[in-house]
Amino acid sequence: PSTVMWFRRDLRLADNPALVAAVESARQDGSDVVGLYVLDDALWSRAGHNRLVYLLGSLSALDSACDGALVVRRGDPREVVPAVAREIGATEVHVAASHEPYGRQRDDAVTQTLADDDRRLVVTGSAYAVSPGRVRTGAGTPYQVFTPFRRAWLEHGWRAPAIRPRSIPWARLASDELPTAPATDARLPRAGEEAARRRWHTFLDDGLAGYAEHRDRPDLAGTSAMSVHLRWGEIHPRTLLADLAVAASDGAPSDDVTTFRSELAWREFHADVLHHQPGARTRSLRTVVPEESWARGTREDERFRAWVAGRTGYPIVDAGMRQLVATGWMHNRVRMVVASFLVKDLHVRWQRGAAHFMEHLVDGDVSQNQLNWQWVAGTGYDAAPYFRIFNPVTQGKKFDPDGAYVRRWVPELGDVPAARVQEPWRLDEPPESYPAPIVDHAVERRVALDHFARARR
Ligand code: FAD
Repeated sequence: PSTVMWFRRDLRLADNPALVAAVESARQDGSDVVGLYVLDDALWSRAGHNRLVYLLGSLSALDSACDGALVVRRGDPREVVPAVAREIGATEVHVAASHEPYGRQRDDAVTQTLADDDRRLVVTGSAYAVSPGRVRTGAGTPYQVFTPFRRAWLEHGWRAPAIRPRSIPWARLASDELPTAPATDARLPRAGEEAARRRWHTFLDDGLAGYAEHRDRPDLAGTSAMSVHLRWGEIHPRTLLADLAVAASDGAPSDDVTTFRSELAWREFHADVLHHQPGARTRSLRTVVPEESWARGTREDERFRAWVAGRTGYPIVDAGMRQLVATGWMHNRVRMVVASFLVKDLHVRWQRGAAHFMEHLVDGDVSQNQLNWQWVAGTGYDAAPYFRIFNPVTQGKKFDPDGAYVRRWVPELGDVPAARVQEPWRLDEPPESYPAPIVDHAVERRVALDHFARARR
C-alpha cells in the first residue's frame, strides 16, 4: 500500500520534514508515495482571487517538481483524505501541523475518521522554525510580550533544514483538473518553490546588506518579498534562518541579519498568539475604546469606501491602498499607516480593514493579518499603544522623502514637487483630479484620544 503525503501550506520538496517522513515510511514498506493536494471548497469559496490565482500557480509548479504526479482532488478534506487513503490502502497520511483555527479543527476531524479505519495522520514539523505553542515562559505560560518571546525563541533554537529526498517514488493516481483561475487585475509575483528560492538568493546577494536601514522605505525595493512564499510554504523559515547564519559568518552586517531574524520572530510570535487565542481571528484581545466610539452606518460605509478606493486625500494612504489592489501586496510601513488611518482617523473597526486586506493580499494569512491589525489598533498583545497615532503626512515625509512611492501609485500627483507631495492641499492649485482630505487628521486624532481617555476613566 502507498503512503500519502498531504500537502497544505508546504508546497515544496526541499526542507520538508513531513515529506521526508512519508518517503521513509514508503521505503520501509517497499511502496510509493501519493502526493495529494485537496482543493477545499470551504476555503476556495472564501479566499480572495489573488490568493487563489497564486495557489494555482504554486500547485502547477509543485506538480512539475513531482514529475506530474501531484494528485489534486476537490471537495471536503474530511471526506476526501480518508477516501484516498482507503482507495490505495494507505495506513499513514503524512502532514505538517496546522495551527490556524480552521486547520486544527479539520485535522482533528480527519484524524478521527482515519483512526476509525485503523489509519493514522502522522504530523511532522510545521510552517514555523519553532512550532507554535512550544516557546513558554519559565512558568509554562505563553508569552504575551514580543521581546522576551524572541529571546526564548532564539534560545529554544530550531533543527537544521531537512535534506530533500534524492528520489521520490511517486505513485500515479487519477487527479482532478485544476480549476480555471478566477479573474484578477493584479500583477502577482511568480509562484513556486523555484521562484521562492531565486527571490531569496537575489535578496541575500543584493538586499540583505542595508536591510535594517531600508526596510521601512516603501520607495526602495528594500525588503525580501518572502512573505508570499512563506505563506504557501514554498520555502521554510528554517532555510532562511540557516542561510542567514551562513551570511553572518561570511561577514554580512550583523544589524541586517539580526533585524531580518527579528522580523521572522514576529511571524512566529503572531502564530503563537493565535495558537493560544484562536478567538483573536475575529475578536480584539483587549478593549481599548468603548464600543460606541466606532463609526456606524452611512458614515462608516462612506469612509470605508474612500479608504478602499485609495481616495482619502492622504497621499501615502491612497498610494498604499492602490498598491494593494494592483499587486496583491503592500509595503509593511504603509500597511501600518493605512491601518492606523482606518482605525484612528476614520474610527472604523479593525475587523473591516482586515477583511479587505484578506481579500486582496497574496500573502494574506490569518495569524499575520489579524494580529498585525490588532497590533496597529492597539488591541493585541504587546501592541502599539492606542494613543500612538501615525500622522500620515509625517510618515510620508519620513519614509517616502522624495515622494517617489506616492507618485508611482497616485498618478494624479505625478507633477507635484517633493515638498508638497505628501500634503497636496497646501499647493496654491491642488490637482483637481485628486480628492481633498476626507477628514482632518488633527481633529480625528483628538477624537480618538478622547474615546481612549473615556475608556480609561
Ligand atoms: P521583509 O521586510 O522582507 O520581512 C521578512 C519576513 O519577515 C516577511 O516575509 C514576513 O514573513 C516577516 N515579517 C516582516 N514583518 C512582519 C510583521 N510585521 N509581522 C509578521 N511577520 C513579519 N504579513 C503576512 O505575511 N501576511 C499578512 O496577511 C500580513 N498582514 C499584515 C497586515 C497589517 C495591518 C500589517 C501592519 C502587517 C501585515 N503583515 C502581514 C506583515 C508584513 O507587512 C509583511 O509580512 C511584509 O510586508 C512582507 O513583505 P516582505 O516579505 O518583503 O518583508
